Amino acid sequence: MCGVTTSDAPSDLPLDLPGYQHVYSGKVRDLYAPVDSQGEVDPDRLLLVASNRLSAYDWMMAPEIPDKGAVLTRLSLWWFDQLSDLVPNHVVSTDVPAVVAGRALLVRRLEMLRVEAIARAYLTGGGLEEYRAKGSVSGARLPEGLVDGSRLPEPVFTPTTKAPVGEHDLPMTPAQVEAELGVEVAAEMSRLTRAILVRGNEIASQRGILIADTKVEFGLRPDGSGGLVLADEVLTPDSSRFWPADQWEPGHPQPSYDKQFVRDWLTSPESGWDRSSGEPPPELPPHVVEQTRAKYIEAYERVTGAPF
Ligand code: ATP
Ligand code: MG
Repeated sequence: MCGVTTSDAPSDLPLDLPGYQHVYSGKVRDLYAPVDSQGEVDPDRLLLVASNRLSAYDWMMAPEIPDKGAVLTRLSLWWFDQLSDLVPNHVVSTDVPAVVAGRALLVRRLEMLRVEAIARAYLTGGGLEEYRAKGSVSGARLPEGLVDGSRLPEPVFTPTTKAPVGEHDLPMTPAQVEAELGVEVAAEMSRLTRAILVRGNEIASQRGILIADTKVEFGLRPDGSGGLVLADEVLTPDSSRFWPADQWEPGHPQPSYDKQFVRDWLTSPESGWDRSSGEPPPELPPHVVEQTRAKYIEAYERVTGAPF
């Protein structure tokens, strides 16, 4: 299912980073482990490098979006700070090799929990589909009459599986999450995920942005000490739906700061692409790349109130 639109897209990987060894590449981020002069791998740290890759409909887009990795890294860093009284995070330092400066973080290496922690404050996407079919979302009964974009009475935890690259994440019931994590960790993940979204909306709404839903990832320290640690990225346009508050109008899809822009182009007549064909999508034209870059930067600037 998952593919690249050009055969050479990942060929610059892994990066040649003296003192680091490539460990893993996800859709967007690349992980490297620090190695000392003896060749010993540091078991406690990782270099988390955000690339400019963008995926949509399970395809990697070409070309990449300039500055996207830096926007995601700097925005996550800003949010980790805003959330630090709610939840500890994995950030160790921003002191990273010059070639990845601004788009990489040195982080604590965690045992990642095998659940995608999602919370929804507004109804759309997969949550809306489930509500239309069952009147509930992840087991939470919702009021009647909600439509695309409706605000939920309170944020709902809607976890999914963490599918291997190329497969789709599937909704998990509360019982499945408890079986995976244990009752206590499951409850803590739900509480923290919703608290992050609530705090995110308290801050973003003052800046004209609604955060409809978000996905976070948590890990545990390998030595078992401490509780859940917030990892990966947080409250970015890749992991969340950001909506301009002044245009919010339930009843139809909302304009957004996330990659919806690319998705809309892909499914428009202009791209000429048939999503159901199984064929790779076409290359993004320069105006789509540029407008996508501008959206990411605008999201950063609006949320943080600082120029990128
Ligand atoms: P998704 O689109 O769901 O985010 P992905 O797994 O392809 O999928 P990336 O963000 O590209 O995501 O890759 C980052 C990887 O690094 C993820 O597998 C994530 O679980 C892992 N990761 C993030 N932070 C840490 C950490 N502190 N310790 C260990 N692994 C981490
Ligand atoms: Mg990720």
